Amino acid sequence: MDDCLFCRIVKKEIKSEIVFENDSVLIFKDINPKAPVHLLVIPKRHIADITEIDSLSAAESYEILSSISKTALELGLEKSGFRVVTNTGVGAGQSVAHLHFHILGKRDFAWPPG
Ligand code: 5GP
Ligand code: ZN
Repeated sequence: MDDCLFCRIVKKEIKSEIVFENDSVLIFKDINPKAPVHLLVIPKRHIADITEIDSLSAAESYEILSSISKTALELGLEKSGFRVVTNTGVGAGQSVAHLHFHILGKRDFAWPPG
């Protein structure tokens, strides 16, 4: 989508600090980090949020989860624990309408989240 911020990041029209990329997934650093490690994991193909996941192929969905796991392990996030979050809808704090999973790590986390 031409007017979608994350689609523009996928197309490299907007610069980002990319930490992983394959045919279907992009992982880049959040511009306003809420933890020492704060990454965003997105499908390259635009869907608005998790409620549209069936618009992606099974392989694309798998690649999202697999790349989250691989990246967390590469960064050693499992040692102290990490959090994976996808805010869905304005009421839950979603500010960009392109599916994204936050990976947050290297600090302590409270439960339940606010
Ligand atoms: P949400 O609020 O939708 O759950 O998460 C959107 C995230 O995108 C926020 O954490 C915000 O800091 C991040 N973000 C917004 N604009 C940009 C940008 O231009 N570049 C990067 N790298 N992250 C962004
Ligand atoms: Zn998009």
